[in-house]
Amino acid sequence: MSNDILDTPELNLRAGKPVAVKASGCWVYDTEGRDYLDGSSGTICVNIGHGVPEIISAMTEQAQQLGFAHRNQFASQAVRELTAEIHRVTGHRFKEVVYTNSGSEATETALRLVLNHHAARGDVDRTVVLAQFPSYHGMTAGALSISGHPQRRRNLDPLHDNRLSLGTVAARDAASSLPTLAEWEERFAAIGPERIAAVVVEPVSGAAGGAAELPDETLRGLRELCDRSGTLLVIDEVMTGFGRTGEWFGHDRSGVRPDLVITAKGLSAGYTPIGACLVSREVLPGQSATDAAVGHTMSGNPVSAATALAVLRYMQEHDLVAHAAKLGPLLTERLAEVTAGLEFTRPPRGRGLLQGVPLVQDAEEFATNPLAPRICAAAMEYGLQLYPAGVDARSQTILVAPPLTITEAELDILIARLEQALRLVAATTHA
Ligand code: PLP
Repeated sequence: MSNDILDTPELNLRAGKPVAVKASGCWVYDTEGRDYLDGSSGTICVNIGHGVPEIISAMTEQAQQLGFAHRNQFASQAVRELTAEIHRVTGHRFKEVVYTNSGSEATETALRLVLNHHAARGDVDRTVVLAQFPSYHGMTAGALSISGHPQRRRNLDPLHDNRLSLGTVAARDAASSLPTLAEWEERFAAIGPERIAAVVVEPVSGAAGGAAELPDETLRGLRELCDRSGTLLVIDEVMTGFGRTGEWFGHDRSGVRPDLVITAKGLSAGYTPIGACLVSREVLPGQSATDAAVGHTMSGNPVSAATALAVLRYMQEHDLVAHAAKLGPLLTERLAEVTAGLEFTRPPRGRGLLQGVPLVQDAEEFATNPLAPRICAAAMEYGLQLYPAGVDARSQTILVAPPLTITEAELDILIARLEQALRLVAATTHA
């Protein structure tokens, strides 16, 4: 299909990218009628697939019924029901759900609640927040100040007064992706545990860490370290949350009780912007977290709430968390097969339907011509959408994270298209 406006060079709308016009299930279609298998759920958010009629009906009905109501003025049925559903799927472990429009805003909310928690105890010098290197917790100034993502932080240091974050904890051993518990403990001792307000970690690192798993023992050790130090434990489940790892949350199987959980993406499966910060009883016992964190014009708007509620119900009706758990090992096996023998890949890692193929490239070549975007571009040529992750040669990874609705037959197509893309890159890399 030709489209004059899109082809106008000054608008540069194509800019080398196909123009998506419709999507259904795990498939996206462009203006030329080509199909793309969505191997990354968009940006790891379209967890139940595209164009699900039940979700579209829920959005439409809510928009017709009540499009906007702000919590300062009205309670809304949609928000009440969503909050009840979130409490149900989290086993009533949290005291409050504070809504935002994105994962970045949920991180900002968590940071504000952390500082409020310590200030309420007169502990105003506890201002250090430690995260992992690599990590990504959002694009807003506060979220970036605690992110181990040099590219996204670039030129933004003047925005951060360096009081909130004294940075990140990195692994010393070049072969390991994430810091060990001993490295966290050393960092606590060096800074002074009484100054550390919070630790923020992802159970499986996404955009920055490339599906590197935080071992359950490390997470349990971090919980103990935080308990001994009066530090709050914040778990970022923006990418892992709501079923992606084969459990509702990536931290569930560790048995660890976080003080705060940050969520977004999968909560509405990409149908509408919404995020949420889940707050435990201990964070602000005498006060409403929602009141303390204030809020945004659109946070907790009825249309996003009705959408997220429909998504959570759809996931349960179709048993999608169990499906992700079942398909995870199959995806690992197929990724291992398709990458076996390639010089520029390492064995797959990750959990459930959040997996990655780590890449091997020397640091100099990574700086000038990184492999991950090349593989993703080649995959697009063969009709497969993937997600390039990592902040340096060590963390560079291709994320493979299809919708939790993917069938085994579609997984076969994903692997076949990936194989073609890898072959093309192998031929051009070693020619
Ligand atoms: N935290 C993690 C782990 C993420 O992966 C992201 C986004 O990719 C964010 C936070 C920020 O979320 P958002 O893009 O919705 O602001």
